[in-house]
Amino acid sequence: MAEIKIAGSEETVKIGKVICLSRSYKAHAVEMGSAVPDNPEFFLKPSTSIIRNREHIILPKESEEVHHEVELAVVIGKGGKNIPKDAAMNHVLGYTVFIDVTARDIQSRAKKAGKPWSAAKGFDTFAPMSDIMPKDRVKNKHDLNIWLKVNGEMRQMSNTGKMIFTIEEIIEHISTIMTLEPGDVIAMGTPEGVSRIVAGDEIEAGVEGVGIIEIGVG
Ligand code: MG
Repeated sequence: MAEIKIAGSEETVKIGKVICLSRSYKAHAVEMGSAVPDNPEFFLKPSTSIIRNREHIILPKESEEVHHEVELAVVIGKGGKNIPKDAAMNHVLGYTVFIDVTARDIQSRAKKAGKPWSAAKGFDTFAPMSDIMPKDRVKNKHDLNIWLKVNGEMRQMSNTGKMIFTIEEIIEHISTIMTLEPGDVIAMGTPEGVSRIVAGDEIEAGVEGVGIIEIGVG
């Protein structure tokens, strides 16, 4: 089970389920040719896909087209079910920079065939994340610059203010369906600019005030 450090301490958190929003920024929905959803939509990634700062994404032989998706994620500190949005932040421990690595060709075939996305999203190493920044140290969570560079070139650059739903609304909605437990991660979806990564690439990604990660591609 993956353990992620809390920034500025020796404490670690055992990561549980990883819930990922899809189509959470309008401009990404548009670039994927998808409609903007009425409710937050999500899928699950296995916790076995998690890697840490300065580790490597291993490109699977089953895919010819692996994409980066930089996302702000929250880590749950206190579990709950049917969490109302005005209490949602009481359940958050902190924030992490998250990359939702995606085998886009496998995902596209699955979408066309109406099949699940688990293979496209669930390969080992497909969930790099930074240390956890405690929530009290992050102000204005809905106004944070979020960016990702490949080999020094900016590929994604947006702001969490462009999310379609607030973090509170997302926690409220997900917790009507599945119980949230301490150590669960909710990745809030990616802005536009997703693109292909290849062996030898060096990824640098960050969220203002949360952290920066450097991830290699092998
Ligand atoms: Mg994503």
